[in-house]
Amino acid sequence: MINRNDPEIGKRVLQKLTGLADRAASELGRPPVLMEICGTHTVAISRSGIRSLLKESLVLKSGPGCPVCVTDQSDIDRIILLSRQPGVVIATFGDMLRVPGTNSSLEQERARQAKVEIFYSPLEAVDFAEKYPGEQVIFLGIGFETTTPAIALSIRQAEKQGLSNYSVFSVHKMVPPVMKVLLSDPELGVDGFILPGHVCTITGRKAFDFISAEYNKPAVIAGFEPVDVLEAACLLLKQIIDRQARTVNGYTRLVQEEGNQKAREIMDQIFSPADVYWRGFGLVEGSGLKISRDYEDFDASLRFPAEINPVSPQSNFGCACGDVLKGKINPGDCPLFAKRCTPLWPVGPCMVSSEGACAAYYQYELS
Ligand code: SF4
Repeated sequence: MINRNDPEIGKRVLQKLTGLADRAASELGRPPVLMEICGTHTVAISRSGIRSLLKESLVLKSGPGCPVCVTDQSDIDRIILLSRQPGVVIATFGDMLRVPGTNSSLEQERARQAKVEIFYSPLEAVDFAEKYPGEQVIFLGIGFETTTPAIALSIRQAEKQGLSNYSVFSVHKMVPPVMKVLLSDPELGVDGFILPGHVCTITGRKAFDFISAEYNKPAVIAGFEPVDVLEAACLLLKQIIDRQARTVNGYTRLVQEEGNQKAREIMDQIFSPADVYWRGFGLVEGSGLKISRDYEDFDASLRFPAEINPVSPQSNFGCACGDVLKGKINPGDCPLFAKRCTPLWPVGPCMVSSEGACAAYYQYELS
């Protein structure tokens, strides 16, 4: 097996990629444009310097692959309302703490005595609920197909333990439906897509076949080492040069054609598809996962209804996260980037989340 961290291998693939990018550019009459739609890839690309190294020959855009960032402002505001309910403990992954809602954040609510606990796994939150039967523990279900099975399992576990004080506020989202929205945008201007390896371990390669079959765009599933990303870009450029469009599995170490059947089964049992709002994209049909009727006792949105109308992200003090997530602009094009908006004083979620494009560009690409 090759060592994917070997700098010599990286150098060789980079050289090959530059040659292919030049050939693709003469084919297209402009530099080719690729989009990584996964926040983990965004960070890997920024951290390794690939984007700036290749900027003369290849444009690498970031897309909607950070689940915290795409969570709609209305959902953030709902979460903040939930945190104010007496007897409630908000259980969450750490990234959510500093995400600004319209008027507050969980961090600010915590400073005002709201109970907010950080967990690394939803099963820890189930244990917490068992330990504190007097508290209503609400786990924030935020994530794509990668995260959803673990949260589904936590609901199953809470049911098994007979817990009536554990529920999930589900704003889970699925990647294929939002890809369809992206691909239908005539102004997108992307020649090929680097697909998220971890999402595809659950969905399988076939779930993304529509990109090539219906939209005639090349797509390659990639792992998360810099060499994986470079190799995926090579495979995309070859397709562009050969005028082909296929959805290729470049992460065969982990991704299979049909994905992880068991994980999909538990997701299907506990959740059902729903039309939900995405930051920047608005309502996307069938792109969310709400808790299914059989498990509605564990649905925090039914246990604690808190209705707020969706708010346009543009109203969030001039934050342009919506345009960043759609690949319309780069983080550096936002007038607030690195001025009024920094990781210390974030204006929007893309500067807060560890997978946010603005945070990644700020940390690794600010010259
Ligand atoms: S730099 Fe800040 S304000 Fe601008 S889009 Fe990113 S998160 Fe929003």
